[in-house]
Formats: sequence, C-alpha cells, structure tokens
Amino acid sequence: MRIPKHACPHCKSAMILRSSRQEHALLKTVYAQCTNPFCGATFKGRTEWLQQLSPSATPNPEILKQLKQPA
Ligand SMILES: [Zn+2]
Repeated sequence: MRIPKHACPHCKSAMILRSSRQEHALLKTVYAQCTNPFCGATFKGRTEWLQQLSPSATPNPEILKQLKQPA
C-alpha cells in the first residue's frame, strides 16, 4: 500500500512516518518527523476511516455498525 506524503506544517518539507499504533480497526495514531534538518519538528497525529463509500464484498458486521453510511 502506498502511504501518502505529508508536509511539515511549519516548513512544508516532506515528513516521514517514524512509528504508528493501531488503536482499533478504524483509527491509527501516527508519529512523523520533518526531514528538513533546520526544522526537525516531530508530530503525533491520527488516520481515521470515517465513512464507507462503497460496500465490501466481505463485510464485517462490527465495522459496519461503527462506520457512517453514505446518505
Ligand atoms: Zn519542518
């Protein structure tokens, strides 16, 4: 899976993901570091799946309960 690039909020340089923790099936906490040596900022953030846009061929009933369905 391709991981999207993130820009440092301070200097706009590329950041690399240093670590991550899967909180539950829909939420991941990520730790990222700016690659600009003159900046060096580090961040903690989140990746969260909010809504299912198209159905799964192998749906998990527990996940379907947690996701917001399209209107
Ligand atoms: Zn930076």
